[in-house]
Amino acid sequence: MAAILGVSSAALYGFLYRSFSQQLNHQLRTLAQAAVPSLDTVKTEGRQSLDEDLPWRDLFLNQDQSLEWFDDDGNLLARQGSNFPEIPLSKSLSSSDLNHGLPRIHYKGQLRVMTIAVYADDSDGKTLQLEGYLRASQSTQRLEATLGHLRLGLGLGGVTALCLASISSLYLTRQAVKPMQQSFQRLTQFAADASHELRNPLTRISIATEIMLSHPDQIKPSNVKKLTTITHATEQMKRLIDDVLFLARTDAANVPVNRKESVDVSLDEVLLNLAERFEPQAQIKGINFQKRLLINLSIKGNANQLDRLFSNLLENAIKYTRQGGRVTLSLNKYRQNAIVSIRDTGIGIPSEYLPFVFRRFWRVDQAKSQDANGFGLGLAIAETIAKQHQGEILVNSQVGIGTCFQVRLPLT
Ligand code: ADP
Repeated sequence: MAAILGVSSAALYGFLYRSFSQQLNHQLRTLAQAAVPSLDTVKTEGRQSLDEDLPWRDLFLNQDQSLEWFDDDGNLLARQGSNFPEIPLSKSLSSSDLNHGLPRIHYKGQLRVMTIAVYADDSDGKTLQLEGYLRASQSTQRLEATLGHLRLGLGLGGVTALCLASISSLYLTRQAVKPMQQSFQRLTQFAADASHELRNPLTRISIATEIMLSHPDQIKPSNVKKLTTITHATEQMKRLIDDVLFLARTDAANVPVNRKESVDVSLDEVLLNLAERFEPQAQIKGINFQKRLLINLSIKGNANQLDRLFSNLLENAIKYTRQGGRVTLSLNKYRQNAIVSIRDTGIGIPSEYLPFVFRRFWRVDQAKSQDANGFGLGLAIAETIAKQHQGEILVNSQVGIGTCFQVRLPLT
């Protein structure tokens, strides 16, 4: 809107400036041309001839104009009006324009000056003889004042129009977005409620199957495998529901963790607990697990959520690293931020997929076939938690070499 107003105001101003300027030039030329017949009289009879009744004399009454008569050598013969440029004629001449019979225009302070050369037929009637020069001047004060008002008007008008447009567009946008916000809220609320309601029957199923499996003597051996599959599937569904419930709740709330109200969480302690939990898993898979943690680094936040963030990243690192590989968990400080890095020497992520890894339900094809347990929500949840803590996650990866996730979280 500002660009449109700016361009149209500049175009309008330019157009009006040009037409006012042309109008002024036209007035000056008319004045100079009206005085052409009088040059001969002034040359022969002198200045006093001007005091006689000449048709153009009243021209000087209202306008800030002036007229000067010069002979062919450039000597001033007479002048009439007010506001003279007070410069020698040679300064107004110097161009070849006059030789071509064109009027020459130049500016002196707040004066616009137009000089024309006057020619008369020679005695033989074949050539033109230079008679003298006429110099008409007019003050540009009025023009400047008019243009000043125009600039002010355009500026004030533009600012007012911008303010009104901003206020009305803000109002209209809010009105237009309201139904969308409401339906989004309803949708996220529905997802949260549905996930919550689904947890109860699933919990009942898993309790029932666990009870049945705890008495294997009472069930047919052929049914044990089926029951184990049901338990496994139920656990998977419970995890999926937990993840969807978490994302739906955070979407519905849509507020970052209030740093002032949240408690101090010792990051090194959270990471140490996680290392203790994940080290055995890594060892079972034949992966070398290393940790390098800087101590006494605290942030404001929610310890459970931070635990979830880093466990999602560590789970992935172990999941996508083959036997003999290495997973390194490190905690460092950079300026006023804690930097947690989870580096692995696993399968890596193709660079073309890196922009999508934080999308919900997104998984690299290879991963889909390798592991049926993931849903593609782990990184989306990790990013949501990092953002809630006013932080961010960066990912770096090379296929066949490994992946590094870096989490930046502002320190207290
Ligand atoms: P999933 O539950 O499938 O692991 P995530 O959201 O945690 O879902 O990860 C999304 C996808 O990103 C994964 O399916 C996997 O393809 C890729 N990915 C995540 N972490 C790593 C990693 N450390 N190494 C290789 N690929 C990874």
